Amino acid sequence: MKLEELGEFGLIDRIARGVAPSPSVPLGIGDDAAALVPTPQTVTLITCDMLLEGVHFDLSFCDPRTLGRKSLAVNLSDLAAMGARPRQFLLGLALPADLPLEFMDGFMAGMLEQAERFGVTLVGGDTCASKGGVAISVTALGEQRPELVVKRSGAQPGDFIYLTGTVGDAAAGLGELRRGVRHGFLVSRQLDPQPRVAAGVALAEAELASAMIDVSDGVVADLGHICQLSGVGARVQLGRLPLSDQYRADCGPDPFALALSGGEDYELLFCVAKENGGRVEELFGEMGLRVSRIGEVLAGEGIELITPDDRPYRAKMHGFDHFA
Ligand code: ADP
Ligand code: MG
Repeated sequence: MKLEELGEFGLIDRIARGVAPSPSVPLGIGDDAAALVPTPQTVTLITCDMLLEGVHFDLSFCDPRTLGRKSLAVNLSDLAAMGARPRQFLLGLALPADLPLEFMDGFMAGMLEQAERFGVTLVGGDTCASKGGVAISVTALGEQRPELVVKRSGAQPGDFIYLTGTVGDAAAGLGELRRGVRHGFLVSRQLDPQPRVAAGVALAEAELASAMIDVSDGVVADLGHICQLSGVGARVQLGRLPLSDQYRADCGPDPFALALSGGEDYELLFCVAKENGGRVEELFGEMGLRVSRIGEVLAGEGIELITPDDRPYRAKMHGFDHFA
C-alpha cells in the first residue's frame, strides 16, 4: 500500500496509535496544538534538526527503522550537549505520495522505540506531500534547572578538554557504505548513533562541564565553536584522540585526518576545570562510558594540533558546512 491510498489523516492516526501516553502531556497529537506540563523550576531547551534524502541520508544505505532512530537521536544529542533531560518532540514530515506504507511503519517503529528508550513523547507535528524526496524535521524539547544548563561559551583557559566514546567512526562508516559495505561497527556508528544523554545530564547535574557541544561536524570544527564563543584557544594532543580498533584498521596512513574532520559521531566534547578532572574520570567509570582527555583550553585564539612526536599537525580539513 502507498501513502496516497492511506491519506494524510490516515497516516497521522497510524502514527498517533503508536504513541504511549505521558503524564507531562495532557493533550498530545490530534488537536491544533499540544499541551505540556513543565517541571517546576526548569527552563525548556528546544532544538530542531532536518534530515533530507540525498543530503543527510541515502535510502539505499539505510533501512527505515534505523533512519527513524537516527532522526530522533541527532536531536537528543543536541539536548544532551546542553545537559538537558529530553521530554517531548514534534515530527515534521514531507513524503512522496507513492512512498510505500511499510517504509513509514518501519520509520515510526524505529523512532518510537528510540523515544521509549529515552523517555520522550511524540506530541505533534506536521505532514505534507513532497514533490522531491523524503524530508524529516524533528523538534525536541528538554528541561533542566537554568543554573545547570551547559553552554558553548563557558570554557576557561586551563580547562581540560574531554571527549566521550571514539571519533572518526561515523565518517569511516560512510566511506564503507559508499564502497558497498552494509554492516559492521563503523557502518552502525554512521547509521545508528547513540546520543550521550545520560553523560550530558550527569555532567550538568554534577556541575562539572564549563562548556559542552556534541560532535556533529567534526572535532576541530566543534571545538572551534566552543573556542569562538568562549573567547579562548585550545591545544589538542592527537595521540590522545580516542580511536576505535575498527577505525584504526580502516583509516589508512593518517589516522588523524578523518578523526578530526569527520562528523556525525554524536559524542560529547566538553571542558572541565583542571581540579575536577578526577571527578570526571570517576563519573564516567560509574557510567561505564569511555572518556578521554584530549587537550586543554588556552588563552588567546586558534586550535593547536600536536602530533604524538610533539610536532604541529597541519590540518588540511574543515568540518562539514552545508553551503561551503
Ligand atoms: P493543523 O492543520 O491544525 O496544523 P494537522 O492536520 O496538521 O493540523 O495535524 C493534526 C494533528 O496531528 C495535530 O495535533 C498535529 O500535531 C498532529 N500531526 C500532524 N502530523 C504529524 C506527524 N508527522 N507526527 C505527529 N503528529 C502529527
Ligand atoms: Mg498542521
